[in-house]
Order: sequence, then structure tokens, then C-alpha cells
Amino acid sequence: MYWYLRLDLILALTGRLIVIVFVVNCGSSSIKYQLINMEGERVMAKGLIERIGMEGSTLKHTPAGKYTIDLKEEIPDHKVGIRMAIKALTSKEYGVIKDMSEIDAVGHRVVHGGERFTDSVLITSDVLRGIEACCEIAPLHNPPNLYGINACMEIMRGTPQVAVFDTAFHQTMPKVAYLYGLPYEMYVKYGVRRYGFHGTSHKYVALRAAELMQEHMNDLRIISCHLGNGASIAAIKYGKSIDTSMGYTPLEGLIMGTRSGEIDPAIIPFLMEKENMNAQQIDDYLNRRSGILGISGLSSDFRDLESAANRGDDRSQLAIDVFAYKVKKYIGGYVAAMGGVDAIVFTAGLGENSPFMRDKICNGLEYLGTRIDPDLNQVRGKEREISVRRARVKIFVIPTNEELVIARDTYNICRRIIKL
Ligand code: AMP
Repeated sequence: MYWYLRLDLILALTGRLIVIVFVVNCGSSSIKYQLINMEGERVMAKGLIERIGMEGSTLKHTPAGKYTIDLKEEIPDHKVGIRMAIKALTSKEYGVIKDMSEIDAVGHRVVHGGERFTDSVLITSDVLRGIEACCEIAPLHNPPNLYGINACMEIMRGTPQVAVFDTAFHQTMPKVAYLYGLPYEMYVKYGVRRYGFHGTSHKYVALRAAELMQEHMNDLRIISCHLGNGASIAAIKYGKSIDTSMGYTPLEGLIMGTRSGEIDPAIIPFLMEKENMNAQQIDDYLNRRSGILGISGLSSDFRDLESAANRGDDRSQLAIDVFAYKVKKYIGGYVAAMGGVDAIVFTAGLGENSPFMRDKICNGLEYLGTRIDPDLNQVRGKEREISVRRARVKIFVIPTNEELVIARDTYNICRRIIKL
């Protein structure tokens, strides 16, 4: 039944060249994709499918250097979505390849790899079972990832598929960083521990920072701040993640757009009782109605808060202040955990685009041997060192590129197997 999953053998036999990689990132009702030519790591096209299984589903497809094509069609499930993406990629009008056989490999973003997956892997039937087993600890995220994998396997039989996990980079965390203060049996029985997320992003920006410093990542202590709608910070000591702010789920750590981040756990039964909420409702409350949206009562988007605060809205100002304070506290904590720091990196929507927030976070960190250069800091969405000249601790803005990490891992794994 799983003959087509013995791709390692097929690959070894055919000695196939891997050039074009299809990167797939499936959410519960969305699919993001990119087609990347690994010769020069060139993005050939990218796309976004939204509202899968709902009314008004759409596909936005953008061939490199051209306009976005907006297609409105019924997309009842992920398999139809993947077929539409391939149709767009191979279209005579706006496609970038002649047919599907030009896709040499597929790289899938998978959110949770538990303790089993410490690196990206070629998907076999055994790996599929492993990803399925992680659904218990990631019930919202892993099932849609699996829909995407299964759809691609059916549609592109014989094309190697690779899984790249958000959690894998953080599997180097030591027990002191990942254990909760709960009875140890909960960890053994149910895997209740801290896993961390955004691993591909933290890995990418840390590597880039090392390249920009012309040093090896293994010689540096880097604090990577992925500040977007979801936000997390990682302490990367000599090439390895030793701590990160998200935990068992992406709810822990910083306050975020709509997520509370860490709170006293005793608040949960208290609110359940006072507000008459069940488990599902409190989960929704903490994930979708809290964070900066909850504090400001206005928006989960920092752009809205920045302009409201400028107009004198106190609660928007408060939400900004709470967020920046938390980030600063994590940075301080990770300096202590690593015994120092050589570089701080800002990435993701807010980290890449808000000079105001970067300045607010770094203001007061001078004791570490760093300072933001106010002119250099006026950058949005571009890679740049923003610390003052000769600062002992460098500060960078580095746009993240999770798709490229997925494509690189897919390419490297397939090439390794071909060489066997
Ligand atoms: P992400 O989840 O990485 O796509 O980041 C999205 C978030 O980044 C948005 O919700 C905004 O809060 C924030 N963001 C994006 N652009 C800006 C900007 N120019 N200024 C401030 N915040 C921004």
C-alpha cells in the first residue's frame, strides 16, 4: 500500500536531480505556497489560498515579477486547493512551469514534531504515523498539515515529500528549560513540556546574523525576536536553541496580537467560574480575545495601536508598553541564561517594520554594550544592522524567510538520499 512512500529507494535508483521545490504551508482554512528554483534560490511564484471549505474561497497567485492573479472558485478541501495551486503554476497564461513533473520535491511546513523529530525528514509511512501521533498535542495545527501532505502525495505520486517542523530547532533545549513545575509523570505520560515554535524562523535569522557578522553561528550567542501577530523569542547559544518563550502550545510567553501569553494558571479556573466559561470558551478567550487586543480593546494590529496612541488613546499606549516591557524582560532573561549576548535580531511583521517598537524595546539595554542608531533604525522590511558603529552587541533587522528554510532542507535531504 505504501510502496510509493519508499521514495528513498526510487530516488536512489533514478538519480533524479532536485532543482524545483514546491513549498507548502497548510493552515486549517488556508494554503500558502511558493515554487523555488534552488539554482540561485529564486522564487518562481507564490500564492495564497484562503477560506477553504467556506463561502468565497479564493486563490491569489503571483508569478515572480508579475501582477497577482485573483481567482475565485469553490475550494471545498485542501486537495482541491493543492490542485488549484498546481493548475495556476502550470497555466499557459500565468504559470511558471509546463507541467507538474517539473516539480522535483515538495517541502511541507509541519507545526509539531514532538520529541521525535529533531530535524527535517523525508516523509515515509512511518514518518506520517509520527506526525499523526503529534496531533494529540497539536490538535489545531497538525491535522491541516497532514491534509496538505496527503493531498500532495496523492496528486504527485513519486515526488519526494519532506516535513520541516516548527518545533525541531528547539529540540536542543535542555531539560531545565523545557520542564514545567508539574508532576514528572505528566511529562512521561502525556509529553507535557515546553516545545517552542517558530523554529524555522529563529534558525534562519540566527544563521543570517552570523553571516552578516562574518562569524560562525556556533561561536555566537544570539537572541532572536520573532515579533508578529504570533510572537516568540529564542536564546540561541553557539548554534543551538537553549530556550524559547513559547511552550507546550504557542500560547505561552509574550503577550501577542490576540493571545494572552503567560498568565498565572490560577486565573483560568477563577475566570471559568466567574464568567461561566467552559474549557473551549476559556481557550478561545485566551487565544483570540486577549493579548494587545484585550488590553487596548481596540485592535490586535500594532499599526492601529501606534496611531491610536499618537492620538492619545491611553489603553493602546498601555498595550504597547506592556508588550515592549515583556520583550525586554525576556531579552534580559536570555542574556542571563546564555552568560552574555553577541547579537539581537528583530524579525516578522512588527520586528521588521516598526522602528518605534524596536527603539522602545532596546531603550535601556545600553548596559549590555549596545545601542540602536536612530537613523539606521528607520528601516522597514529590509535586512540591516541597526546598532551604533562598533557596538559590542550587534542589533539587526532581518526579514524572516521560513519558506527558504523549508526549501533548503527539502533540497538537502533529497540530495543526501540521491548520493547514498
Ligand atoms: P506577521 O504575523 O509576522 O505577519 O505580523 C503581522 C503583524 O505585524 C501585524 O498584526 C502588525 O501588528 C505588525 N506590523 C506589520 N507591519 C507593521 C508596521 N509597519 N508597523 C507596525 N506594526 C506592523
